[in-house]
Amino acid sequence: MDSEGRSPLAAACAAADAWVGVAGPRTVLLASPRSWCAGVERAVEVVERLLEEPGRRGRPLFVRKQIVHNTHVVRGLERRGVVFVEELDEVPEGATVVFSAHGVSPAVREEARGRGLEAVDATCPLVTKVHAEARRFSARGDTVVLIGHDGHEEVEGTLGEAPEHSVLVQSPSDVRDVEVPDPDRVTYLTQTTLAADETAEAVDALRARFPRLKEPPSDDICYATTNRQNALEAIVPGAGLVLVIGSANSSNSLRLVERTRRAGTAAHLIGDATGIRPGWLAGVATVALTAGASAPQALVDEVIRALSGLGPVTVQEHSTAVENVRFAPPKEVRTP
Ligand code: SF4
Repeated sequence: MDSEGRSPLAAACAAADAWVGVAGPRTVLLASPRSWCAGVERAVEVVERLLEEPGRRGRPLFVRKQIVHNTHVVRGLERRGVVFVEELDEVPEGATVVFSAHGVSPAVREEARGRGLEAVDATCPLVTKVHAEARRFSARGDTVVLIGHDGHEEVEGTLGEAPEHSVLVQSPSDVRDVEVPDPDRVTYLTQTTLAADETAEAVDALRARFPRLKEPPSDDICYATTNRQNALEAIVPGAGLVLVIGSANSSNSLRLVERTRRAGTAAHLIGDATGIRPGWLAGVATVALTAGASAPQALVDEVIRALSGLGPVTVQEHSTAVENVRFAPPKEVRTP
């Protein structure tokens, strides 16, 4: 019996009926840019290059945390022998460990050194930039207010650059509780994958409390996050439903869903095509489709194929920006 008291056969028939009920022609508005950004490409490439190093054959390769926040990418690398760990004490002394695209705090680097690990850093250069800002601004005597999400690995890493001089703010309402030693010496930074509109509200609240608030020299929200938000925003008005492909811990994917819902359109985060629920598609002739910066394009193709199984699909791709950003891999994996 399933949760509704139906036998397996009855449940399967009901599911089939539900899918038949949403069959019909459909248009898919495909956002561009979407899927992998330069930081994700670089991080995955680091792991793949290490896996392919001839001298490494047979030796396990460890990655601290998920290399990027996508379960398909992680499982694919696991199948190739990569061992993902939560903390460095799970890595045997002398082994190679890769730091994920989200970055690590100096304390983690120090721990790796202390344990004699060969650390290869796959932190996205745009996250590294925010770390450098946190060091610079705290060194000049400012309190660094980091706008971001508690518990996210990127936030943990950035706060770790100057833990004594940093404060985390998650929303505009947090701002009233911020305590700083000198209200004239406050700089804000942000997580790279936030929603631009929500961040602006938090910055406004900070500026109202600290009129001499300083900002980072350039936006910390990265080009990939901004481009994916703008690309989706451009197609949402024509769609009855928005599907965002991404894992549940992917910050930039979650922001795409939240922003769309705030604008009043139904939006769902799906890990892959199996996440689509038939009820979402009832009466929907136009679906807007995108994928977060850590979700591979193959998952987008799979979703389009799944929708095509319900009737003819016309795909219209709308491009709002061309991305040609590439980041060089770290020196440890560069081909001589
Ligand atoms: Fe780097 Fe932005 Fe991609 Fe994160 S989303 S890996 S910060 S480019």
